[in-house]
Amino acid sequence: MIRIILFGAPGAGKGTQADSIEKKYGYTKISTGDLVRAEIKSQTKLGRKFKTVVEKGGLVPDDIIIKILKKRLRQKDIEKGYIIDGFPRTIQQAKALTEIAIDSEIAIYLKISKENVVVNRVLSRMTCTQCGAIFSSKEIPPKKEGICAVCGGIVKPRSDDTEEVIKNRLRVYRKETKSVIDYYRHKEELFEIDASRTIEEVFETITGILH
Ligand code: AMP
Repeated sequence: MIRIILFGAPGAGKGTQADSIEKKYGYTKISTGDLVRAEIKSQTKLGRKFKTVVEKGGLVPDDIIIKILKKRLRQKDIEKGYIIDGFPRTIQQAKALTEIAIDSEIAIYLKISKENVVVNRVLSRMTCTQCGAIFSSKEIPPKKEGICAVCGGIVKPRSDDTEEVIKNRLRVYRKETKSVIDYYRHKEELFEIDASRTIEEVFETITGILH
């Protein structure tokens, strides 16, 4: 079984590229952000705690997110392989993932050096509240305004995709997640891609790596 890990700042295009990889290769996309949002939507006790953290742009505790990911990995639909979007975000998470056995692993870093590029992408992003499909008012507008082309759900900006919250998410990314990228640089080959290009160009580079 293969595991593909996508790294990159919020807005680098991890979710969009994970969707394309899932569609082309049949590997299952696992977004820890989607798992967190599902918990918030169900208004569980955990979900209520998550809401406060997510709306501030912080990270939910390592032990909880690791448990949630492990539970997701117990489902049968990942048999062919899986793509992780949004995990690991800390060294503790990276170590926990390393302990989860896998036949082969490919780590891809979607790199964008200009912060205003990711901020603009995040601010034009819209997400389906039902299935998590990603749209963008600039690059991929939904065919029918406000309606998801995949499942018919409502498409709108995420509550944490605001200018204020994205600034904090980028701060957290620089403080916690950058060191995870170094961890992978030492652990195995890390494929670094210029993710400031178009969705199609980035995906072409990814397919070159996966072939
Ligand atoms: P994302 O959709 O990946 O941007 O995730 C949205 C939010 O969910 C993040 O800003 C965090 O608050 C939370 N989250 C998602 N993945 C993780 C993770 N691996 N560790 C901690 N918090 C996470």
